[in-house]
Amino acid sequence: IPAESTAITIQRLSIAPVSNSVISRHVAVIGAGAAGLVTARELRRKGHSVVVYERGDQVGGTWVYTAMVESDCLGLDPTRTKVHSSLYGSLRTNLPREAMGFSDYPFFSRDDPDRDPRRFPGHREVLMYLKDFARKFRIGELVRFETEVVRVRLMEGSKWNVKSRKRDEDGAGFDEIFDAVVVCNGHHTEPRIALIPGMNEWPGKQMHSHNYRDPEPFRDQVVVLIGSSASAVDISRDIAGVAKEVHIAARTVGDETFKKQPGYDNMWLHPMIGSVSGDGTVYFQDGSFVLADVILHCTGYKYDFPFLETNGVVTVDDNRVEPLYKHVFPPALAPWLSFVGLTWKVIPFPMFELQSKWIAGVLSNQLMLPSQEEMMEDVETLYSSLEAAGTPKRYTHRMDISQFEYNSWLAAQCGCPGNEEWRVQMYRALGRNKLARPEAYRDEWEDHHLISQAHEDFIKYTS
Ligand code: FAD
Repeated sequence: IPAESTAITIQRLSIAPVSNSVISRHVAVIGAGAAGLVTARELRRKGHSVVVYERGDQVGGTWVYTAMVESDCLGLDPTRTKVHSSLYGSLRTNLPREAMGFSDYPFFSRDDPDRDPRRFPGHREVLMYLKDFARKFRIGELVRFETEVVRVRLMEGSKWNVKSRKRDEDGAGFDEIFDAVVVCNGHHTEPRIALIPGMNEWPGKQMHSHNYRDPEPFRDQVVVLIGSSASAVDISRDIAGVAKEVHIAARTVGDETFKKQPGYDNMWLHPMIGSVSGDGTVYFQDGSFVLADVILHCTGYKYDFPFLETNGVVTVDDNRVEPLYKHVFPPALAPWLSFVGLTWKVIPFPMFELQSKWIAGVLSNQLMLPSQEEMMEDVETLYSSLEAAGTPKRYTHRMDISQFEYNSWLAAQCGCPGNEEWRVQMYRALGRNKLARPEAYRDEWEDHHLISQAHEDFIKYTS
């Protein structure tokens, strides 16, 4: 976040709305991915006037697949032309569609030959679902497409100046004043890479999974892939079909080095890379080594808000966006600045829905925030507990099972229903199934009773 040049007094911005009168605000939403779409819907439902800025030419964000990759495959060159989406061609969802959808707009299989009926569908089906959602709730009319937000600046008088630029237009851009800004710009675009001793001298090709689209370029190559996330697992299997050898280096691997992966005769598991050398060798931390052609960093992404000028109030440090009350509001700027969708290892869409309901309610004075001091205390308590548990800072927004407690808390704030029990159990069942059937979890499962419960629940939104 660039340093702010204008000195601004911000303490008076933090107010806890207490009035009973419902107020309509002028709100900018940055991004028309899943988070921006549902945020726009919730804000409009509360009577706010909404402008959604989207630099792409359609809604859907990450789910707009493109075969294009960036000129710098590792993503280090700050001047490179950026590609937003990190999807690869073969990507199927890693969540079942019943669990993945918004709470009141089920992600059904459509009886349409143009649609993907599978429970874990391909990426195009998710994009179609988001487009259906946008159409149903007429979000498109709120979106300014091909319009990039280049600066969000806090002004005197507790307003925000949002400067945007239309694609292919030169000039100073267009300024508009808003009461509040909700940042929904996604966090799977700016690569984080592993820093490896010797990497600048290593002669092979290095790239980040952000620029992985299909396995063909890896045919007959020896590939070292770093990471153990869902996409690392998918990509390693994709590549193993054509590569000579795939060596997975992961922090989480213990002593069982050079362990062959079951079901593959060309894939091995290793501990992390220790170093690489100018002759092309990759050394793992246990001393084993391979001569490799490619290192593929499947090492995640960085939060990035290049447009945001908050006078240093909000910063990103070791992938923690701080300080944020409940991952949404910076206490000193609440409720006028907020973030939807920063959490990870979660079921994203229904969580975005709850976060945006909370923001919309607070902005309309129907819901109250604690005082700035109380919010800061809550933030500090979270950071201390993470530190005491030895959780790295970069895992601040990682949730997993704790997402359901968080969702229940948000729902209680908003006075709306929280997690459906079937959704919670489906997430747990998915975790068990992935362990039992790492290769086949998308096509074989045992939670049929949960699917039935979900469909019973969906009837209320379709009848
Ligand atoms: P995005 O979808 O990234 O949307 C952000 C939008 O903001 C984009 O349209 C972008 O163009 C726009 N934008 C950014 N900056 C600006 C700017 N300055 N001005 C104007 N517009 C801007 N989730 C699941 O639920 N199930 C899955 O199976 C799943 N698999 C995934 C696999 C991969 C490889 C990845 C990367 C993610 C996956 N996710 C999955 C998570 C996915 O990111 C979320 O589902 C969700 O789509 C995130 O939505 P978002 O709106 O927060 O961000």
